[in-house]
Amino acid sequence: MSSHEHQQFIIGVDLGGTNIVAGAMTVDGTRHLNIRSIPTNASLGDEGVADRMVTLVEEVIRDTMQQTGVERSDFVGVGVGAPGPLDREKGIVLVAPNLGWQNFPLRDRMHDRLSLPTTLDNDANCATFGEWWQGAARGGRNVVGLTIGTGIGGGLILNGVLYHGASDMAGEIGHTTIDLNGRHCKCGNYGCLEAYASASAIATRAREVLVREEGESSIPAMVHGRFEDITAQTVYDAAKAGDSVANEIVRDTARYLGAGVANLLNIFNPDTVVIAGGVTAAGDALFVPLRAEVRRRAFGPAVRAVKIVPGTLPGSAGVVGAVASFKQQYLGGM
Ligand code: ZN
Repeated sequence: MSSHEHQQFIIGVDLGGTNIVAGAMTVDGTRHLNIRSIPTNASLGDEGVADRMVTLVEEVIRDTMQQTGVERSDFVGVGVGAPGPLDREKGIVLVAPNLGWQNFPLRDRMHDRLSLPTTLDNDANCATFGEWWQGAARGGRNVVGLTIGTGIGGGLILNGVLYHGASDMAGEIGHTTIDLNGRHCKCGNYGCLEAYASASAIATRAREVLVREEGESSIPAMVHGRFEDITAQTVYDAAKAGDSVANEIVRDTARYLGAGVANLLNIFNPDTVVIAGGVTAAGDALFVPLRAEVRRRAFGPAVRAVKIVPGTLPGSAGVVGAVASFKQQYLGGM
């Protein structure tokens, strides 16, 4: 028998509003197997989506067993990352607006169906933890992560440990206020960072500028005049092609994010800030002005101690981090 046949695996699952991603990893993290993605189909409701998650995990387990010759007993457990707020101790997703869930006992549902130990954690915490374990924040001790998609998720690693706070609410960076009387946010507050710099906010700001017809832009032609079809990606693509309106929007986004990151530097003094999600497709057009804004706003020693970098695990940070969270919660360490 080869040594592989004695390896033990943990399954990571990343539940998003659009896709469910799952994969198998060895406990030491050195091998990733069968990372795959299926549509969430949120309209199926909580039980229906949980069914899809269970089916996907069973497929990953079956294929991993076939490829490596390990037995089912070589699977130690399942780490699940899900949109929050959630109650880790009870294993319950309290509210997930993008999924339409309320008080759903996701951890126990997975555990009952799979007969494997299961842990639950916030998806953005997992993405940050994944980047810390195996991605752009590797080697960091104090790490702040931002995941920019439909919303802005955040995660904090303090002294090498994922920080959850008093009631699992830590790291909600997207809902920190950057403008007292600013834009209305989905959370009910006004002026949240997410209301300015999330992918959906970028698209909204682009529509507002274009409706006012300020400046020449290629964006209306790119969406055949249908402004409702403008996405953040449209803006990045136009910016890359030299569109000045799009570049202005990317620069504003960088300034909003820079203000948010400067706040985090002054609070946490991290060695690494990792920014993941589609917005990183804007590349230097985003990161150069973002770092400049941070320099303007945060204390010098905090700025000099930090690297602000794009994530390096697109598509898999959540899965890797869900495995890491399982290790920390269930096995008691990394
Ligand atoms: Zn908010």
